[in-house]
Amino acid sequence: MLEVHLKPADYKSDVEPTWCSGCGDFGVVAALTRAYSELGLKPENIVSVSGIGCSSRLPLFVKNYSVHSLHGRAIPVAVGIKLARPDLTVIVETGDGDLFSIGAGHNPHAARRNIDITVICMDNQVYGLTKNQVSPTSREGLYGSLTPYGSIDRPVNPIATMLSYGATFVAQTYAGNLKHMTEVIKQAIQHKGFSFVNVISPCPTFNKVDTFQYYKGKVKDINEQGHDPSDYRKALELAFHDLDHYHDPNAPVPIGVFYKAELETYEDRMQSVKRRYKQVEDVQELIDMCKPKA
Ligand code: SF4
Ligand code: MG
Repeated sequence: MLEVHLKPADYKSDVEPTWCSGCGDFGVVAALTRAYSELGLKPENIVSVSGIGCSSRLPLFVKNYSVHSLHGRAIPVAVGIKLARPDLTVIVETGDGDLFSIGAGHNPHAARRNIDITVICMDNQVYGLTKNQVSPTSREGLYGSLTPYGSIDRPVNPIATMLSYGATFVAQTYAGNLKHMTEVIKQAIQHKGFSFVNVISPCPTFNKVDTFQYYKGKVKDINEQGHDPSDYRKALELAFHDLDHYHDPNAPVPIGVFYKAELETYEDRMQSVKRRYKQVEDVQELIDMCKPKA
C-alpha cells in the first residue's frame, strides 16, 4: 500500500485554538505536529492525554486520539492506555500547575517505573485558566490575584525534580525556538522509556515577568556547549542552576537534553513477569513463588 507522508498541517484538527493571542502554547502545537510529521507517525497510532488548564486544551487542536481527563490525572490515564496498548505513542500534554501541584503524586511513580510515555509540560509559571494565581513554578515575589503582596513560596525546579524521580529522558526547551522544541520533542517521543520535556511557554496575558522578551537572549543550549546527556551527575549539577536567573540577571536559562539513559521499561519487565508466570504449571509452585523469602 502507498505510504502517504503527512505534513505538520495534516496533524492539526479543525478546532481553532482558543488560546490568547501570543500564548506560548501555539508554538508547542507547531513543534508537536512538526515532530509527528518528521517521525512519520500515523495519527491513529498517537494518543494525547491532558488534565485541566490552558495547556491541557492542546489535545483538541491535534488530529489524533485524545483524552481530556481530570485535573492532575493525565499521567495515570496515560499509563493505563500504554499498558493496554504498548504499540501506541502516548503523550501527556500538561501544565506546571496540573503536573507539579494537583497531579504531583503521579510523576514520581511513572518516572521511576520508566513507563514508555512522553510528558510535555507547558510551563508558564502561573495558573492561566483560572485567571492568574501563582503556580508551583512561579518565582518568589510574583504577583497574582491571590498574592497581592507577591508569592512567598520558593518555586519547584522541574528539571531537578524529574531527574531525582528517575526519569530516563529529561529535557527543557523554549516556545520561542521552534526548531529546538521540535528536535527535543522528537527525541523525547523516540526515547524508549519515561521522557519529560519542560517547555518554557510564556503566558502574555497574566505573567508579565517571565515573558518572551525576558527569555530572549537568556536561553542557552547546554548540548551545544558540550553537555553529555549520559552524565547524570552533571545533569543534576546543571539542573540545580536552572533557576539561578531568578536571582542573578546574568545567569543563563539552560535548554537542551539534560539526561538520557536506555534502561529496561516497565512494559518490558511486565512482559518478563508474564512469561515467567505462563511457564509455571504447578499451582503450588506459584504459591511458593509469592511467599515472602525467609
Ligand atoms: Fe495562554 Fe495565558 Fe491566555 Fe492561558 S491565559 S491561553 S496560558 S496566554
Ligand atoms: Mg501554568
